[in-house]
Amino acid sequence: MILIMKQGFSESELQEAIHAMEAGGVKVMVSKGSETTILGAEGNSSKLDEEKLAQLTGVERVMRVSEPFKKANRKYHPDNSVIDIGGGVQVGGDKLAVIAGPCSVEGEAQITGVAQAVKAAGAAALRGGAYKPRTSPYAFQGMGVEGVRLLLEAKQATGLPIVTELMSSDQLPFFEECVDVIQIGARNMQNFDLLKKVGKCSKPILLKRGLSSTIEEWLMSAEYIMAGGNNNVILCERGIRTFETYTRNTLDLSAVLAAKQLSHLPVVVDPSHACGKAWMVERMALAAVAAGADGLLIEVHNDPQNAWCDGAQSITPAQFAELMPKVAQIAACVGRTL
Ligand code: PEP
Ligand code: MN
Repeated sequence: MILIMKQGFSESELQEAIHAMEAGGVKVMVSKGSETTILGAEGNSSKLDEEKLAQLTGVERVMRVSEPFKKANRKYHPDNSVIDIGGGVQVGGDKLAVIAGPCSVEGEAQITGVAQAVKAAGAAALRGGAYKPRTSPYAFQGMGVEGVRLLLEAKQATGLPIVTELMSSDQLPFFEECVDVIQIGARNMQNFDLLKKVGKCSKPILLKRGLSSTIEEWLMSAEYIMAGGNNNVILCERGIRTFETYTRNTLDLSAVLAAKQLSHLPVVVDPSHACGKAWMVERMALAAVAAGADGLLIEVHNDPQNAWCDGAQSITPAQFAELMPKVAQIAACVGRTL
């Protein structure tokens, strides 16, 4: 349930409304937006008396919210959330955030070289996997701690914030210390224990959409993180599994619009994992920006043919540098900047 406060309400009216809701056994989330102030009930709101609340002097309207996600719901927080990821970079504002880098960290020269190249082309942050969720247990599993250390070196060389995937909560204290944005991969989108744990941490979370997850399931996973107190969630559409096998996944661009309609959280698009084909990345990235994405997550590798992971979908630094001015042009068409 949400309470929409009247324009010009007083502090005592606000407190009265908060207390009335708390008396009904819920916690209250106060969202002071640009136009309205909204009080959102967190928890079981079945005991709240809608009519009584509606009669409070500072209250304009009371609304039952039917969606199961609350803190992630735009009804609870009408303004877009803008998430600070460090290094002066924000995700969700007018300026698009392009996160680029290799699927996995392979060595110092590789990660720092790619970081410098993507930075020069205008990337806002560096991606790179140190712990890789691979289908085969015999495939390269990532460099682990050393990979994170190399990401930190690349960060030092470029100033780019780093984004990397957390697979196990065992690594969470280390990630909290070193990483700027913690990625929760598609395969862990419904690892509820992991979601609860990152919900208690202080770093922004990039939450990828699960392999076959509905938009509501995805937003419920964001809700798990936010329920723990971490409101800094960035959603990432990375394609879903459909009957189509030509592409690795099917990029669901309508999900960008839906997620942004339903939620205030920023949404970025990963065309690399969605398509699985490097030659499709540019056009799908541009389409994502046209659809209203708040940013992109793009795999860029110095030598895609010899990449240890996901080479087929990785573009080169030169291709990335060609893409970025086009992203800026499409961004301008939809009222955004790069
Ligand atoms: C990745 O970003 O390299 C990755 C493994 O992505 P996803 O979880 O979307 O498959
Ligand atoms: Mn990858």
